[in-house]
Amino acid sequence: MSGFSDPLTTCKACNEIYRADHLIKHIVEVPDALSNQEIYKVICDNEVTCPECGGALSEIYEFNLMFKTNIGPGGKLQGYLRPETAQGMFINFQRLLRYFRDHLPFGAVQIGKSFRNEISPRQGVIRLREFTQAEAEIFIDPRNKTHPKFGEIKDLVLKLYSQAAQERGEPDTMTVGEAVERGVIAHQILGYYVARTYQFLMAVGVSSGSMRFRQHKSDEMAHYAADCWDAEVLLDRLGWIEIVGIADRTDYDLKAHMAQSKVSLKVMVPYDKPIKRQKLVVKPDFKALGPKFKAKSKAVGDALKALTPEDIRGDMIKVQLDGEQIEVDKSLVSFETAEEEIRGEEVVPHVIEPSFGIDRIIYTVLDHSFYEDAVDGEARSVLKFLPGVAPIEVAILPLMDRSELVAPARKILEDLRSRGIRTDYDTSGSIGRRYRRNDEVGTPYDVTVDYETLEKGTVTVRDRDSMRQIKVRVEDMVCTLEGLLSGAKKFEKAGVMVEIHPT
Ligand code: AMP
Repeated sequence: MSGFSDPLTTCKACNEIYRADHLIKHIVEVPDALSNQEIYKVICDNEVTCPECGGALSEIYEFNLMFKTNIGPGGKLQGYLRPETAQGMFINFQRLLRYFRDHLPFGAVQIGKSFRNEISPRQGVIRLREFTQAEAEIFIDPRNKTHPKFGEIKDLVLKLYSQAAQERGEPDTMTVGEAVERGVIAHQILGYYVARTYQFLMAVGVSSGSMRFRQHKSDEMAHYAADCWDAEVLLDRLGWIEIVGIADRTDYDLKAHMAQSKVSLKVMVPYDKPIKRQKLVVKPDFKALGPKFKAKSKAVGDALKALTPEDIRGDMIKVQLDGEQIEVDKSLVSFETAEEEIRGEEVVPHVIEPSFGIDRIIYTVLDHSFYEDAVDGEARSVLKFLPGVAPIEVAILPLMDRSELVAPARKILEDLRSRGIRTDYDTSGSIGRRYRRNDEVGTPYDVTVDYETLEKGTVTVRDRDSMRQIKVRVEDMVCTLEGLLSGAKKFEKAGVMVEIHPT
């Protein structure tokens, strides 16, 4: 496995070890794109020294990020913890191919832990030694890089920080269709997954204004990759961070597995219509071969049958038998041509790999959702989670912890839970404190049960973001909240608006 190593440098004075590319982040925008020699040159030219003691730094060397371990009780078998989840999908390629009835394209997804011996695991969950990845491997026919559903996403406008845009220092804003047409993104399939990644990140609450797709520079890209884009987000105090990588890895992985396992991972792709072709048929004269090659004559005959027109050019024909080269006079064979039907072509599929870092995505959603404002001169902390990711969608808050209010509140709680709505029930503290607590954990709606619930059969539904309130009849409440949570209903129109002082 290549690519899982980091460039390091050691302080010659205090022996502290650093990620060399991290030390020059303030000088070079994309240090990943530099070779080790180039990183060292930047260090020397800019007199970068040890951040701890100011000592001189060593030349750059590579550090293997994979955790080595021994398998089984004897400990004789050496193994590595997986540095990405992808491997299983390549190992199971043949099984997957059978599952998809031998048809390309097909894809598999895997979510799980990956392990990398990161040299400086810091910045919270941004750089962990054990993290959660969700990866997809989309196996495609290399001769067809169009996508049947490209039309669904082609008009999506994205901020694309292509190689050329990085030279200029300013991302371009264009549609996915335009990007593929102009060759900014290599092809439709890659463009499709870039777009779907954008839609997913938007759906979980990443802010589109703080998101861009950055193309790997040619020297940053793995040598086998055809094109590679990272979804990057702008995070408070951390700057631009990669959260998803989407790569066209060509046939590199399958070829590497084929070379190691000696198993063919090719796929027969049928032609629309079989094609007919003239084929040379070699007919060995077995009667004549017998006396000459004795016990070997059958094997020699079979080897002759497998020859191609190129193999029979000279007077003597050469065949390989168990590593031995045997010469056969051309008079011992005759040739015929026959028509053969070719039904398809064998290809090694190419792989498109979207790789999602779940910890970083969750961190981003928190970072992009958090804001503070003031209510009545008091600070209010809010996580403006979209309903789909909010741990609590609706909080049920009886105005007071009295049995005449608790009973209808409990009934409402049961009704909402039976519809699969994530709810919480909270009676402790003033109503204002409970609103604040729910704003802080990102609950989109609060339902307050008060004496009007008993007298008029209505509850108050409060919207976290605007802090506005509406009155809704108890019997309409489940339907109203379902509409609000799915986005089918607008808050202002969902009930009788009651303008009250924000709480
Ligand atoms: P990569 O295979 O390096 O392209 O990683 C794919 C995704 O995994 C990245 O976009 C990150 O979101 C995530 N990731 C990679 N390394 C780490 C790490 N050490 N800690 C947390 N997330 C990581």
